[in-house]
This record gives sequence, structure tokens and C-alpha cells, in this order.
Amino acid sequence: MPSYPVANIDLTALQYNLQRVKQLAPQSRVMSVIKANAYGHGLVQVAQAIPGSDAFAVARLSEALRLREAGIQQPIVLLEGVSSEDELQTAAEKSLSIVFHHLSQLELLTKAPLSQPLAFCWLMVDTGMQRLGIDAAHVDQALQGLSQSENIIGPVGLMSHFANADLVNDSRNQQQLNKILICAKNDNAVAISMANSAAILSFSGSHGDWVRPGLMLYGVSPFEGQSARNLDLKPVMTLTSRLISIQQVKAGEQVGYGGDWVAQREVCVGIVSIGYGDGYSRQLSNVGSVMINNKTASVLGRVSMDMIAVDLSDINTVSIGSEVILWGNESLAVEDVAKQAKTIPYELLCQISERVKREYQRG
Ligand SMILES: *Cc1c(COP(=O)(O)O)cnc(C)c1O
Repeated sequence: MPSYPVANIDLTALQYNLQRVKQLAPQSRVMSVIKANAYGHGLVQVAQAIPGSDAFAVARLSEALRLREAGIQQPIVLLEGVSSEDELQTAAEKSLSIVFHHLSQLELLTKAPLSQPLAFCWLMVDTGMQRLGIDAAHVDQALQGLSQSENIIGPVGLMSHFANADLVNDSRNQQQLNKILICAKNDNAVAISMANSAAILSFSGSHGDWVRPGLMLYGVSPFEGQSARNLDLKPVMTLTSRLISIQQVKAGEQVGYGGDWVAQREVCVGIVSIGYGDGYSRQLSNVGSVMINNKTASVLGRVSMDMIAVDLSDINTVSIGSEVILWGNESLAVEDVAKQAKTIPYELLCQISERVKREYQRG
């Protein structure tokens, strides 16, 4: 008896989406972004399934170390860089690549006696998001410092991140791009990396030397109101569970914690084995929906830690053990569920907890 819930991960779809990236940005190399457990899809399995990535990017050192332990050989970029000499030394030993986003990290580099130099490093420039990155005014000096450091070999690229790439044709995107292009002007050879999924899909002028797709690799649209199918992306994750109980609830009876849902008439209620303890958002209480036998069933009442209640009124031939799709189905994309939960698909995917078994399939 397989355990439920299960997140089915379609590795063929993942590979297809990487090809889509390459098709859209044929002049660029691809840094596949697999932070946060590859957006919930499984860090190591995803990395192993897309060896056609020219590099991988993660947020933290711990994620990079897991990849190296699993034998991943490609360059691995630490998007948040490092914050101590110890971490810097570990990064050097494991041949990790660092994004320097703050002058304090550059100081760390100057002082550290590293056992081996770092390669394929990046300087993060703040072009308007005010999150990570050094001021454009300091770029020349920082690049010079990096090129003179014995702790670095090879050229250092310029990286920045769009704050509004999901808003197609928003003038702020062009402004951010202009800023990094000005920074690169004094050094024609410097590599540039700006584009996340939304920019890869909608702003070809920003592709530069390296693109950084995350969400689109997983077959999910970064644009509100535009489906993955429309963008020719294939959803990678299907989240499923099972009905573990079915009962008739009489008119006037309350369902779940707090009695937030009250039956207006007699209703057939199914209990599904998934809850916020699995990462199924509690914000789907009373507003979510699931698919059973290709039909939609509404979430009734509050999401519990391990279970949800759903309305089986419109579902035929259902029984205990019937499969329930939480998202990933043609007619119930994670983008739609995110909308119901008043959040973004990124959050729903990342939230899927360790308790949910990942099953990997091809085709
Ligand atoms: C997460 C991240 C990405 C990927 O963004 P998507 O919108 O998922 O494509 C790219 N660059 C940086 C710096 C990131 O933090």
C-alpha cells in the first residue's frame, strides 16, 4: 500500500521546460534555479534530471553542499553568497560560486586566506529592487577589487534581479536593465545575468549571457491570468492524496474546526488525507477545490493539520480510497489553487513538506 499524499514529479516535463528555456533564450547559458528543495520538487532529483543546465543556483550554502554530496559536478551559484570566513572556505573547498551582494562580503574575501580560489563568481548589483546588491556607483571599484584578488580566478559577472518582471512591458523592467547595461559599459567582456522566468518569457532584450529560470522549469506560469499551457510549459508536479472517509452530513450540521461550514441540506462529505501539516495551505479553508474522478469538489470548512473535508455531491462512483488531485491536473493548475489561496504558486510549491512522498516518473 503506497503512502499518501504523494507528489508525482514528471521528469520528462522538467526536461521539456528546460528545452523551452533554451528555445526562448538561444544565445544565453542557463543557470537552473533549484533553491528551496527545487521549489518543493526535490533538490537532488531535479538537479540530476536536468544535466543540460550549464549551472545551478541555490540560495544557501547548505543546499549547495547537499548537491555536491550527491555528486553534482556543474557550477553551483550561491545566490545569497556567504557571511563568514568559514563559509567562504567551505565554498572554496567545494568549488562553489559566490554572488557577492554586499561590500562586507568583499572585505571578507580580501582578508581570507583561502586554500583554493573561487571561480565563476558574480557581483550582485542593485538596479532598483532594494533587496540584495551593491550600489551601481561602486561596481567599477568592486569589479577591480575582485579581479585583483588572489582568491578569485576567472572573470566575475554582473547579476541583478527584476522586481516586476511578471508585469509585462512595465517600464521599471527596462529601467533596471538600463542600469546594469551602464554598469557593464566599461568592461565589454563582463557577463550579465538578469532574467528570471518571467523575463525569459516576456523580455528577450534582458536575456544577457546567463538566464536564471526557476518557476518555469517546474511548468508553472509566472504571469497572473496566463496559463502554463499558453506558454507551452508542462506542469511537473501533480499533488495527490486519497479519500479516507465518507459520510452523510445532515442539514444544519457543522463541518470541521470552528464549525465554519454549515450544511444547508444533506451533503455527502469526503475526508481527504492532506492538511497544512503537508503544506496544503490553510488559506484554502472554505475556498479551495480539488479534483476527484475529473470533477471538481469544494473544500468545506477549515483545513486541518492532516485532513480536509470536501463536498462529494457532484462526484459519481466515489469510495474510500478514491484518488484526489490537489493540483497539477489540466483543469486544476497550481496557479488556480494559488489564486484561491490568495497567494502565488511559488509559495504553494515550496510549502509542500517532507511528509509528502515524492515519486519520480518519466513520461
Ligand atoms: C529565485 C530566483 C530566480 C528564479 O526566479 P523565477 O521567478 O522562479 O524564475 C532567479 N534569480 C534570483 C536571484 C532568484 O532569487
